[in-house]
Amino acid sequence: MLKELDVNSWVFGRRSSLEGVYDSVSDIVENVRKSGDSALFEYAKKFDRVELESLAVTEDEVEAAYDEVDGHLVENLIEAEARISEFHELQRRNDLWLREIQPGITLGVKTTPLQRVGCYVPGGRASYPSTALMTAVPARVAGVREICACTPPPVNPLTIVAFDIAGVSEIYRAGGAQAIAAMALGTDSIKPVQKIVGPGNVYVTAAKMMLRDHAEIDFPAGPSEIGIIADSSANPEFIAADILAQAEHDPNAACVLVTTDRSLAERVDKEVSKLLLNAPRNEIIEKALAQSGFVIADSMSQAVSFIDEIAPEHLSIQVSDSLSVLNRVRNAGSIFVGPYAPVACGDYASGTNHVLPTAGYSKVYSGLNVDHFCKTSTVQIIDREGLEDIGDIVETLADAEGLHAHAESVRIRRK
Ligand code: NAD
Repeated sequence: MLKELDVNSWVFGRRSSLEGVYDSVSDIVENVRKSGDSALFEYAKKFDRVELESLAVTEDEVEAAYDEVDGHLVENLIEAEARISEFHELQRRNDLWLREIQPGITLGVKTTPLQRVGCYVPGGRASYPSTALMTAVPARVAGVREICACTPPPVNPLTIVAFDIAGVSEIYRAGGAQAIAAMALGTDSIKPVQKIVGPGNVYVTAAKMMLRDHAEIDFPAGPSEIGIIADSSANPEFIAADILAQAEHDPNAACVLVTTDRSLAERVDKEVSKLLLNAPRNEIIEKALAQSGFVIADSMSQAVSFIDEIAPEHLSIQVSDSLSVLNRVRNAGSIFVGPYAPVACGDYASGTNHVLPTAGYSKVYSGLNVDHFCKTSTVQIIDREGLEDIGDIVETLADAEGLHAHAESVRIRRK
């Protein structure tokens, strides 16, 4: 069932799946640009098979959602939210720091939250109340005033409750590329946002990449992936369980086991077949397993370099010397260390964020965090003494560049 993979062609395949949908996504974007809300109604009917009466979820509907949801579930969401908030509070920067670099010159950084952001929460094949928390909590912790959210209809009451617990101020029933276009370009109902965050399928991800001139985005967070680095000490049943957990997200999800032990790969393969028999989402899993497999490495160093090439969204380290691998690995969205750290913990409740770069993008992007919702301004406070000290340098370099007025703006103060 799990086949042996070539690392380079696997990585290439992950990127190219996005290119295949660019044409259809650009038609959707143009339609939203032209027809606004009515395009959102039309696509809800076409893709989600829902005849919408309104896009916005009202306050009464939020209240009603609490009545529909089991109290025990709400308690668990609140507990998860508290853990996510706690971890993200640790990431908050000071609003302003200043340091006197030398007498008369103080430098610093002022951090300001974005004013209005949009969270996309997927809802096609599964509903993701957890993603409502993961996208909105860091925005709230950062201090964003207006947090708007879009998710495909019909919206699960638990997702509505999660949005409310996370502090979302506006919820809209819109999914896919059309929701991204609405948040980036604006419609009658949805005011444009400064930045769009959140995961989604290839259509959502392609729309985010396409609309970057209109709204900043977090990063491409497409179909889920797991990379597992394991040696002969690993438990094949645990690894198989993690593979199924990732594969059940999406037919385009992918799982790669990198191991120094071929017999472990064979044992994992057997366990995957066994677990699949009782997996309710086995149709999705089987499709995802078609682009999944294993890679055999000659040594742990080679295994680490394969993982760095794959740059997986999630990395599970299941080797005897796990901290040494943790130290050496460079590219992964979120790292799970040891046999008792399944990715599912980070998906829901450890407190780390589950919105992570996919398709090799963890080589250059970090997973969602508080900084995604802030911008910084550098600050300098300079007095007469400080200006005397650096004035000659500024005047000399400005004159050398032919920027007379620059030099003059210093000279005039030093007279
Ligand atoms: P989704 O909300 O991303 O997509 C559903 C929408 O896709 C629909 O509302 C529809 O508008 C659109 N769509 C469906 N078929 C279409 C078509 N033929 N043409 C144009 N648009 C179409 O939900 P999903 O499909 O369940 O995907 C969720 C994805 O999010 C999964 O791939 C999952 O792995 C991923 N995910 C990623 C992360 C991460 O951080 N990387 C986290 C959670 C989930």
